[in-house]
Amino acid sequence: MKNNYIKIEFSSLSENEGIARQFVAAYAALMDPTLEELAEIRTAVSEAVSNSIIHGYMGRENGIIILEIIKDDENKIYITITDEGKGISNVEEAMKPLYTTGNPDERAGMGFTVMESFMDNVKVNSKEGFGTKVTMTKKLGEKCGKEL
Ligand code: ATP
Ligand code: MG
Repeated sequence: MKNNYIKIEFSSLSENEGIARQFVAAYAALMDPTLEELAEIRTAVSEAVSNSIIHGYMGRENGIIILEIIKDDENKIYITITDEGKGISNVEEAMKPLYTTGNPDERAGMGFTVMESFMDNVKVNSKEGFGTKVTMTKKLGEKCGKEL
């Protein structure tokens, strides 16, 4: 597969979380991933998109979320999820396990931790009042040929 670049834009509707997850999985499926890697990518994307919907746009359904995907020659996938929502004042604190500004009955504060454990690298750029961009990378096919 060539270093195909894809960008999609969608509204901040909760049903679009599933579409974004499937979309990324369809792209990654062409990169000879293991089933585990595919599941990890899908989950990480869901976490980032749900954050944009819930926290970035605070449930507002007409926000715009941009998903971009590209791969490099080393079979590494780069995924970015961008919103123009409320932004994060302290990214370092927000990324800590169990940190949440959401309703503690519904939110565990584990989204970023899940993204970090499932992807090789997670970078968050955010500015309060302007939005948030999450960039995640993962090398696929890593487990091929490796002893368990
Ligand atoms: P969980 O993901 O376990 O349901 P959570 O969403 O609160 O809970 P994280 O995904 O780790 O936990 O996010 C931590 C905090 O970072 C959020 O509570 C929110 O304050 C902030 N945050 C994350 N993503 C965004 C975003 N796109 N826009 C604004 N704030 C965000
Ligand atoms: Mg979350």
